[in-house]
Amino acid sequence: MAALAFLFASCEQDPTENIVEQQEAQVDMSDFYLYTDADADGKSAENANAKCYSMRNLNRLLNENDDLHKKMYNIEKNTRSILAKSANAKGKPGSGGDGDTEPPAPDNLGTVNIPVVIHVVYSNAQENISDAQINSQMAILNEDFRATNSDATNVPAEFAGLVADSEISFTLTQVMRHSDSRTQWGTNDAVKYAYPPVSPSNTLNIWVCNIGGGILGYAQFPGGPLETDGVVVGPQYFGNTGYVASPFDQGRTTTHEVGHYLNLRHIWGDGRCRQDDFVADTPTSDGPNYGCPSYPTVNCKNNDMTMNYMDYTDDACMYMFSEGQKARMRTIFMDGGPRTGFVN
Ligand SMILES: [Zn+2]
Repeated sequence: MAALAFLFASCEQDPTENIVEQQEAQVDMSDFYLYTDADADGKSAENANAKCYSMRNLNRLLNENDDLHKKMYNIEKNTRSILAKSANAKGKPGSGGDGDTEPPAPDNLGTVNIPVVIHVVYSNAQENISDAQINSQMAILNEDFRATNSDATNVPAEFAGLVADSEISFTLTQVMRHSDSRTQWGTNDAVKYAYPPVSPSNTLNIWVCNIGGGILGYAQFPGGPLETDGVVVGPQYFGNTGYVASPFDQGRTTTHEVGHYLNLRHIWGDGRCRQDDFVADTPTSDGPNYGCPSYPTVNCKNNDMTMNYMDYTDDACMYMFSEGQKARMRTIFMDGGPRTGFVN
């Protein structure tokens, strides 16, 4: 009887499954990529000097975890499906007036608050950064993700309409200080295994320690192993007061890395002109920009959004996320997304 009931149930569910399959078929995944040649990225020799190790870290994690590629593919598919449904609902004439229930859109989620635990791992007094330095970074994160940063007014007219309040905020819940004789932690997550994350399914963990090798920071994308989930930033690049080093002394390294943690790619797509960051309103580019570029900076036949947090420019010269980046980040908190633990 149980088997028969199951058969009946299966038959009844068939039409629904077909509809779901048809909807999913509309999501184009043909441009999706995970592996990059980030180990040799950049369009000129000087650009071999990568600030952020997140893409190389992803290459390593993909090599070490057989199921990670499929997991991140499904996360991307879910993101695109949500964004496509949201765009359809908005574009549908008369929608809302015909009694149809609107599909959940990234805009309808409300403000998402992210609890933050900071692990300060130090081998000398300087690296044991002050509470004031930590608080300055928390203030910058909140300003940058809510678009209340004072330098947002510097965005040129071409992109001014795209400046986004991501409606994501951050609350510091705990600072853990660890004295350790190790002076450099590298990029293989050794610091995370030494000092494991606290509640990573609903807490952003940030390790502040000396990475070495000229690396300012690196993040783990959504979908990666929980035991290494979070962001690592060098103490000199954290916050804007105390032990900080110009020109990365305005706390934007952490803003950039938390962008990766919330599934944003580098704005140039870590490839040539045709490789995208999966965000429609950010112009294509063929490589990172450094320093403080003047506007317009033209690559791939359009003006680069050099002032975006996901470029490699100096801290004082990056001051916006775009509306497309906002929508992409927020899908990870929605049904089927990898960070629903923060909203449930
Ligand atoms: Zn990066």
